[in-house]
Amino acid sequence: MERILPFSNEHKMLQEAFSKFVASEMVPYYDEWEENSIVSREVFRKMGDNGYLCPWVEEKYGGAGADFLCSVIVAEEIARQGCRGVFAWLHSDLVAPYIGTYGTDEQKARWLPGATSGEKILAVAMTEPGAGSDLAAMRTKAVKDGNDYIINGSKVFISNGVLADLVVLAVKTDPGAGAKGITLFVVEDGTPGFTKSKQIPKVGLHAQDTVEMFFEDCRVPAENMLGGEGNGFKCLMEKLQQERLMVSLVAQVSAERCLELTLNYVKERVVFGKPLSKFQNTQFTLAEIASEIQVGRSFLDQLVLQHMAGKSIVQEVSMAKYWICEMENRVASRCLQLFGGYGFCKEYEISRMWTDARVQTIYAGTSEVMKMVISRGLGL
Ligand SMILES: Cc1cc2nc3c(=O)[nH]c(=O)nc-3n(C[C@H](O)[C@H](O)[C@H](O)COP(=O)(O)OP(=O)(O)OC[C@H]3O[C@@H](n4cnc5c(N)ncnc54)[C@H](O)[C@@H]3O)c2cc1C
Repeated sequence: MERILPFSNEHKMLQEAFSKFVASEMVPYYDEWEENSIVSREVFRKMGDNGYLCPWVEEKYGGAGADFLCSVIVAEEIARQGCRGVFAWLHSDLVAPYIGTYGTDEQKARWLPGATSGEKILAVAMTEPGAGSDLAAMRTKAVKDGNDYIINGSKVFISNGVLADLVVLAVKTDPGAGAKGITLFVVEDGTPGFTKSKQIPKVGLHAQDTVEMFFEDCRVPAENMLGGEGNGFKCLMEKLQQERLMVSLVAQVSAERCLELTLNYVKERVVFGKPLSKFQNTQFTLAEIASEIQVGRSFLDQLVLQHMAGKSIVQEVSMAKYWICEMENRVASRCLQLFGGYGFCKEYEISRMWTDARVQTIYAGTSEVMKMVISRGLGL
């Protein structure tokens, strides 16, 4: 089925060029990055050199002022070619927008050009050991001291953590005020008192560098505050729509890739004297999977259109995040089953699709948190 998104000739050219870029600059190195548990810093630089990072950023800050479809194309193509550990979407479409939306002109001029060129890699640090789904329970705090703030506390599970040069950090500036006491700061790597743990060993998404971050009497100038004191939670909530949309896009494309890998495999694998594809179980399984994928795609592209039109669709995007990420997990698991024992071997990409899918129902808000948002919208 043809996609409903209004891809222009320019978008198609971007898609074609970026597809070649991923094939030459990511795919050949991806196994090495998985082995090293980190992607290369150079890949961000090369993406920046070619205009693939933060394409939406205004020209005066080094971007192309492009529309959201360019972000969709970049995020999808990385996942489509099986390189999803390159968290360019997090850099470009989750973290940089905090600076683009809430930054002053001076802050934008200071940080966006580096983000766009790939010289400065971005991360966002919200989660704490005692505050994941319940973000308002965070305890990392910043206390004013003259023209600075002194930050103490820690964050966990921070993506792009090792590579990060700039971290959008959520802290409490008024611990007694609950969510209204949360403020965002940009903390630069190398600031005294800011350290990172070794990578957190994970069961999947190995190429993605995930760390804990520690702040011990970390002095940050007041001009690094983003969005004003006490507005942090509001800023985080406003950006949830795009964050969940991006995660859903990666989940959708990954499910599509699982189907593609499996369609190829079942035609080649011979069991009981005939191709696996000739068994009704295989056909029905893949027919069900293809149907789920199509439903996800239709829903998601609708949401992309509405998001581009500036509509507030947090409810619907939460439905997509919940359903599509769960669907991706169902699809990855069922596809792996059709590979038999080979599906459990690292040599077969489907095994990685399965392990990498698992976290999708957890980060950017768990499936349970999505259901809380959806049920609230139902007036429950
Ligand atoms: C690989 C990875 C990368 C990540 N990257 C980042 C990042 O870059 N930046 C960042 O800030 N965070 C990041 N996270 C953190 C992620 O967003 C959190 O793990 C997630 O929000 C869940 O929080 P938690 O792990 O503390 O689980 P918890 O909140 O402890 O949840 C445990 C279980 O309880 C359920 N639960 C919680 N509350 C309720 C409720 N009210 N009702 C019913 N069930 C409930 C949850 O759904 C879950 O099943 C990352 C996590 C991972 C694993």
